[in-house]
Amino acid sequence: MPRFGKIVVIGSSNTDMVVKSSKLPSPGETVIGETFLMNPGGKGANQAVAAARLGGQVVMSARIGNDIFGKQAISQFEKENIETEFILVDDELPSGVALINVDANGENCISVAPGSNSRLSPEDLVKLLENISGSDIALFQLEIPVPTAEFAIRKCFDKKSRVILNPAPACPLPEDLFPCLYLITPNETEAGLLTGIQVTDVHSAAQAAMQLRTKGVMNVIITLGAKGAFLLTDTFSGMIASPQVTAVDTTAAGDCFNGALAVALAEDMSLEQAVAFACKAAALCVTKLGAQSSMPYRSEMPA
Ligand code: ADP
Repeated sequence: MPRFGKIVVIGSSNTDMVVKSSKLPSPGETVIGETFLMNPGGKGANQAVAAARLGGQVVMSARIGNDIFGKQAISQFEKENIETEFILVDDELPSGVALINVDANGENCISVAPGSNSRLSPEDLVKLLENISGSDIALFQLEIPVPTAEFAIRKCFDKKSRVILNPAPACPLPEDLFPCLYLITPNETEAGLLTGIQVTDVHSAAQAAMQLRTKGVMNVIITLGAKGAFLLTDTFSGMIASPQVTAVDTTAAGDCFNGALAVALAEDMSLEQAVAFACKAAALCVTKLGAQSSMPYRSEMPA
């Protein structure tokens, strides 16, 4: 028996293809770029890697294509000690890819072809969901079909596992889904889209968090970039600061935060301790380049 509950991540897996060039191409223009990088990505996969590196026992479910990118994704998960038994292979649609252009100022322009991610269905998750238990943490984002996420969230709630929803990218959600959430973790923009309250500071974050609690979410965290995160629970309302660091690349800071949060909760830390742990992990993540490559290991975490 494992000491702690499993972390079940149900989400996307993509391959990011990045071309760096002096300027972004305009419509119809071809720009000769400088460097090309191919990296594993997708919010689901990024969060799974963060959780595994920080010591979580992680099970990932995603739908990949029957192609070279899908094969690479599986071997990457195995390398990170992520359980791949519930990864499904789609024989028709290709694996998800993101084509990313980055200019000299770090400005980017991204097109995502979700491919097989768009076909992750409730039926794909039935076997995995039969195995989920009350001690497990279930971590979701919204780069998979929303009805599939909804179906799985309701099942996890019925099984009494704690559900974390990172509502990214933000989209309208059925009102009766909110009471199934142990925790919701939007960033400022996503909190704004979900509540209609423009989140720019602690005061507006508190208002948006209160609105989400009123909808029935048990606990709310709104991440506020370098400032850290605002936490609202039954017994706590306030900011938890992020350590101050020199940020090199903030890509996937939110993914790192969510993966770390899941680990902390699986280890039965309190919500305040869990947010502090996630802020420390995400602050380490922004000091390194890349998405999955910048996820910290447990041994790098300050005490
Ligand atoms: P997202 O990446 O989803 O847009 P945020 O920008 O809010 O989310 O970042 C998520 C978390 O990452 C923050 O709550 C914070 O803990 C950490 N973080 C982000 N940027 C920085 C930074 N410049 N310095 C320290 N921590 C940061």
